[in-house]
Amino acid sequence: MSQGAEQRSCKKCKGTFQIEPEDFEFYLRMNAPAPLLCPDCRFKQRAQFRNERILYTSTCALCKKSIISTYHPASPYTVYCLECFDGDGWDPLSYGSAYDAGRPFFDQMGELLLRVPKKALGITGGSNNINSDYTNTAANNKNCYLLFNTSNCEDTMYSRGLKDCRDTIDAYFGIGMERCYEAVNVQQSSGVVFGHNVTNCVDSWFLLNCTDCMNCFGCVNLRHKNYCWFNEQLSKNEYDVRLNEVFGSYKKIIEMQKKFQDFSLSFPRRENNNMKSEDCTGDYLFSSKGLRDCYEITEGENCKYMFSSKVIKDSYDTFGYGYGSELLLDCAATGYANRVIGSYWVEHGHDCEYCFFTLSSDNCLGCDGLKKNSYCILNTQYDEQSYHALRAQIVQSLKDSGAYGMFFPPEIAPFAYNETVAQDYMPLTKEQALSEGFRWQDDLPNTTGKETLISQDIPDNIADVPTTISKEILACVDCRRNYKITTQELAFYKKMALPIPRRCFNCRHGDRIMRRGPMKLFARSCAKCAKDIKTTFAPDRPEIIYCEMCYQQEVL
Ligand SMILES: [Zn+2]
Ligand SMILES: [Zn+2]
Ligand SMILES: [Zn+2]
Ligand SMILES: [Zn+2]
Repeated sequence: MSQGAEQRSCKKCKGTFQIEPEDFEFYLRMNAPAPLLCPDCRFKQRAQFRNERILYTSTCALCKKSIISTYHPASPYTVYCLECFDGDGWDPLSYGSAYDAGRPFFDQMGELLLRVPKKALGITGGSNNINSDYTNTAANNKNCYLLFNTSNCEDTMYSRGLKDCRDTIDAYFGIGMERCYEAVNVQQSSGVVFGHNVTNCVDSWFLLNCTDCMNCFGCVNLRHKNYCWFNEQLSKNEYDVRLNEVFGSYKKIIEMQKKFQDFSLSFPRRENNNMKSEDCTGDYLFSSKGLRDCYEITEGENCKYMFSSKVIKDSYDTFGYGYGSELLLDCAATGYANRVIGSYWVEHGHDCEYCFFTLSSDNCLGCDGLKKNSYCILNTQYDEQSYHALRAQIVQSLKDSGAYGMFFPPEIAPFAYNETVAQDYMPLTKEQALSEGFRWQDDLPNTTGKETLISQDIPDNIADVPTTISKEILACVDCRRNYKITTQELAFYKKMALPIPRRCFNCRHGDRIMRRGPMKLFARSCAKCAKDIKTTFAPDRPEIIYCEMCYQQEVL
């Protein structure tokens, strides 16, 4: 007999949330109770285990070489470089302990997390990154810098969520880009500058929701166009004259950016940016079906509350990875896996619960750093029968406390809230984070006041910028944070006739996340046919939002 929908009050933020009949069916399948926390509180909790972008210089505790690490040098964790961590020089089972039924399980798990060495970066063995030290959660990249959650890229910098890109700077979520700059959801395009929701476009600037365009500037909702300027058809000559007036100048680009923002508000937008997907709610969903409240998912099926995963089905509340995974519940960075609950970075495994970085393992509960193990609890080996008996006892205690089926509690997170992607997607002030039970890091690796060149003294046009600028320290005009321009980056700006950015990577990245839109759905009605729609555009926003059908009729 199926259970009806149930309204719950979040144990943490007191907000109401709904458990639907199909949710109860999923939780039953996972043999886990329905959660006591709302989807947002659950997201914050698992995102707090994922530090993607805050990198420190530190020392490997085993070989003593200098490393780049996601762990703060003053953090209590023992951190190994990638080679030492993947090597045979340490035994994760030697850190095991027997479960003490008289103490809370997560206290014991937190102690284990502190004892077992940690991998400096979220990079899997054999991930084949070449000359790309300052990258994280990344694989098969070459000559890349400050690149996160990205694979198969070359000469690409300051970006997140890319695949198969070349020679691209400042991008968020895209595939197959070449010579692109300031991109959000740009696919199979080259030479696109300030593109948002762009497919198959070439040599164009400021495009929103455009496909198959070439040599267009400041255009919205165009298909198969050439030489358009703010949606007006020009001749090649007229177009070139106007473009030459803007080329390379910081002042002109800022002016055009503002003009384009205002201009784009007069055009309708689609309720979402999903492609080749059916029966889905959420945004940036590709080749998917049956997704609810999901964001940035490719080839997903029957999932809910997911973010940034590929090839995944029958899962709830996961963040990142996927790749053939199914039956995941409240996991982060878990891939090639099935039947995994409340875990971080389980890879090629099944039937794992509350594990942290556990590879090619199965039937493990509360383990950290294991490789090719079975029937372990708190890094202690059991025989199959004893494992199942003890596991049942621990799972029951977790169910009794209401924790089973949800992620690790924030008290044992290895990172502070503001070191992680939680802060990128659900930003909190220090006071808010502390009051919600998260840690806060005051000492992030950034400096202010060390600038050797102030913004006003940077030449307006990139043509006038001397190569010595890569030796200078600049200061972000918004947050005052110091930043530098690498020689590789400068060559890109010169080649693309782009001005030197006056804002730091952090502010630029935050901007792109804003441009992508919130991970929240609002009920609105189509501005044309008044049909009910679900969109990430809040009802009070100025954009004109159309349902899928009205949008297609108007634009195509
Ligand atoms: Zn909540
Ligand atoms: Zn080492
Ligand atoms: Zn800044
Ligand atoms: Zn409509």
